[in-house]
Amino acid sequence: MIKMVIIAAMLAIFEPLIALFLQSLDTIDFYISIGIALYAMACLPILYIVRKNIKRIPVPVYILVQILFLVGVLTAGLILSLHEQSAVASSSSYFLAVFTIAAFITMPPLISLPLFLLFNIIFIIMLPQFQPLQLVINTLNINTLSMTGIAWILNQMISRNRVKSHMNEKLIIEKNNELKKINMELKELTIRDSMTNLLNHKNSLRRLKEEIDRAKRINYPLTVAMIDLDNFKQINDTYGHQIGDTVLIRVAKILTECCRLTDIIGRYGGEEFIVIMPNTNSQEAVALLERIKSRIESTDFVKGVQITGSFGVSELVGDSVHGILRSSDAMLYEAKKKGKNRIEVQLRKDMKSAAIK
Ligand code: GH3
Ligand code: MG
Ligand code: MG
Repeated sequence: MIKMVIIAAMLAIFEPLIALFLQSLDTIDFYISIGIALYAMACLPILYIVRKNIKRIPVPVYILVQILFLVGVLTAGLILSLHEQSAVASSSSYFLAVFTIAAFITMPPLISLPLFLLFNIIFIIMLPQFQPLQLVINTLNINTLSMTGIAWILNQMISRNRVKSHMNEKLIIEKNNELKKINMELKELTIRDSMTNLLNHKNSLRRLKEEIDRAKRINYPLTVAMIDLDNFKQINDTYGHQIGDTVLIRVAKILTECCRLTDIIGRYGGEEFIVIMPNTNSQEAVALLERIKSRIESTDFVKGVQITGSFGVSELVGDSVHGILRSSDAMLYEAKKKGKNRIEVQLRKDMKSAAIK
């Protein structure tokens, strides 16, 4: 389509120049040039709009615009060829028009063939009125007919290749989109734990680092909780590994339901979870963790299986990732030591542990 726009633009620019060059306002050549230029100028915005909206324009409209272009170019070729009979016994302008169309038009053969033939027939009918020599008429008729045939075959070859490359392009785009989707899914797989759909260990640490940096930059509190299920081995031993898995999935669901959208939840290890709470101090965190603790404690997992969790909580005090993790871990150890099913907090100010329960 862009080529058609270029041709129309060239005709719109050069034909008036040719008309000017003729220097005489009453010759037929002058009117032909002006006529072609006007036609090209009229076509130009239409072709440009079609080109801009090529993806949205229905195929019949696209074909109609091409027919409009074809009719214009072939008419110009026809008129010029008939007119030049007074000077030379040639139909070079008509050939030029036919091959221009052959190179740039893409339309079904059943539409292009009648159009090519129609113009050829008009040429054959009108030629005797401009060319007096019968021998020349016969030669030109044979020439134009054979050239029209060759041009049409050429047009079909070019069109077919163009359609094929367009389809290949579409296929490549489709495949590319599919690959992008698969890539995203693969990325998700490497980010999340497949069983609980929480962030995996590695990405929990990556997010913790990001959140610590942000908390320091924006200067807001950040609290991290390590949660370890109590006596989980017994669940596996008593009810089997599959029930153990179900419990882990349900606990992950409880965590997701209780936490806010801004909190980051990860599966830190086998039956150990991490909750990163940005813009939250330890007091606010404990209120949230209390709710989680009660939900876990009161939930009847499959077959009446019940479980509790121990919580180690620490608020950021200029810590690094390892600093805050060490602190939360130490608190978790305290909670276990003090009888499990409890929350232990490393207080921010005096850094002394305080038992919540
Ligand atoms: P504590 O209260 O001291 O934490 O005791 P515990 O039994 O929970 O801790 P321990 O470290 O002795 O055992 C953890 C168990 O968690 C052992 C392991 O088989 C189990 N576990 C770890 N990952 C999975 C898992 O993906 N599925 C199941 N079903 N069990 C798991
Ligand atoms: Mg445990
Ligand atoms: Mg453990």
